[in-house]
Amino acid sequence: MKKIAIYGKGGIGKSTTTSNLSAAFSEAGLKVCQIGCDPKNDSTRLLLGKICSQTVLDVVRDKDEITKEDIMHLGYNNIKCIEAGGPEPGVGCAGRGIIVALEKVKALDIIDDEDVIIYDVLGDVVCGGFAVPIREGYATDIYIVSSGELMSLYAANNIAKGVKRFALRGGVRLGGIIGNSRNTPNEKQLLEEFAKRLHTRLVAFIPRDVIVNKAENNRQTVLQYAPESAQAEVYRQLGRDIMHNEELSVPTPMTFEELEELVAKYGN
Ligand code: ADP
Ligand code: MG
Repeated sequence: MKKIAIYGKGGIGKSTTTSNLSAAFSEAGLKVCQIGCDPKNDSTRLLLGKICSQTVLDVVRDKDEITKEDIMHLGYNNIKCIEAGGPEPGVGCAGRGIIVALEKVKALDIIDDEDVIIYDVLGDVVCGGFAVPIREGYATDIYIVSSGELMSLYAANNIAKGVKRFALRGGVRLGGIIGNSRNTPNEKQLLEEFAKRLHTRLVAFIPRDVIVNKAENNRQTVLQYAPESAQAEVYRQLGRDIMHNEELSVPTPMTFEELEELVAKYGN
């Protein structure tokens, strides 16, 4: 079983990429489970065709006896979809929510003969809770989504620091950087060098394409909405690369000053 986690700054394209990857894996005949670990709980929207109305934390709050069916929802191609959920806005700790949610998923034996389990994790702040998927060994292969924007790279570098910490203790490794384009100057070259400096590689450079937004407006992945499109093929290729990736590494994060210099070198 491949245990993958996709991290990255909020709004960078984690859920879009993760859902398209899940769709690609399932179309290749693999059994897939996607777990959204972001209090926005919209990770699985494109697979379910609607926003998940029953997150793990919702169910934990409302019911004493919880069953698998309460928190596991079947989406596109029978992909198992779970949303950890979050506290009411303004109260409680979202990270703590992830801990509770993943414990429930484990206790209810939701994951059995899956080929791939993929966690979609908000990583602006690598607080204890958001580190849980890597800290507790839920995921072993970590991928970071980033554009060429400084703040996205800053978040990516911070996540690499977290991966390094847990890699030294256990089996978690960085599989690579997934570039999701924002059309910044020399973006691909910048991301390639950023990845190299982190002792990893750019596994994909996903173009910015309006087809992604059109698919989203129809509550579908690109694979479902426009299966013949070039963008769908980009996600399929990324799926194949992730399944066959053998270059997993312990990252070497940069200092903020080094990062600033790198961005200035390509961006000016
Ligand atoms: P995150 O999960 O990291 O918060 P999302 O996956 O929800 O981010 O993406 C944020 C927005 O960016 C969405 O409206 C999504 O459709 C759009 N988006 C993501 N990737 C692309 C892309 N490659 N091209 C165009 N729009 C994109
Ligand atoms: Mg998201």
